[in-house]
Amino acid sequence: SNFEEADLEPLLLENIKLLRYTVPTPVQKSSISYGRAGRDMMACAQTGSGKTGGFLLPILNESFRKGPSQNQAGGHGHYRSRAARPIALILSPTRELTSQIHEEARKFCYRSWVHPCVVYGGADIGGQIRQMERGCDLLVATPGRLVDLIERGRVSLSNIRYLVLDEADRMLDMGFEPQIRRIVEKEDMPGVDDRHTLMFSATFPRDIQMLARDFLKDYIFLSV
Ligand code: AMP
Repeated sequence: SNFEEADLEPLLLENIKLLRYTVPTPVQKSSISYGRAGRDMMACAQTGSGKTGGFLLPILNESFRKGPSQNQAGGHGHYRSRAARPIALILSPTRELTSQIHEEARKFCYRSWVHPCVVYGGADIGGQIRQMERGCDLLVATPGRLVDLIERGRVSLSNIRYLVLDEADRMLDMGFEPQIRRIVEKEDMPGVDDRHTLMFSATFPRDIQMLARDFLKDYIFLSV
């Protein structure tokens, strides 16, 4: 089966064609159908499985369908707030991975209302703040840099509808669990009933099971 049969939003389908993706990978097929059903998901998937599309496609399909009103309280300027208010947050362990996710998101979002942004540590924070001021509906972030931006009042989580933890096992290996918990358990982050949460990990050891138990609701477990 191909992407046409997946009943995606027309603009998303056009952008998928521009990317020359023809057939959804197994993780993409599952995440699109479970995403449509609003189910949380824990997926054991390796790089190369198409997992990036696996979380971007269901998020963007629903966002394109709902239109810009989905983030009406969101963009800069509203309430004269300095904070970016993304509807989607993707946490990922490294600069390289966040950049790759952001690049794929930019292509899927071409000519749409959704503005993707990327922030990571070890780079000029001022430039990242200015980037977010130009629009930030989908934010791809490393955990440490995001905590910094939240503390500076530059990112608010109150509008989050979609939360993704990508390469969760690698983030824990790198010691990011305290930052991840600070972000997900922050008081303005919508609770598990008010957001759609997706977790990806190559492995499913006990510490990842605990994160899944704490962050996901009634989740689908997928191994591809
Ligand atoms: P990932 O597993 O998300 O890192 O993706 C691995 C590579 O496969 C990336 O270069 C993607 O651009 C590509 N890719 C992902 N999904 C598809 C698809 N459905 N058709 C063709 N290429 C894809």
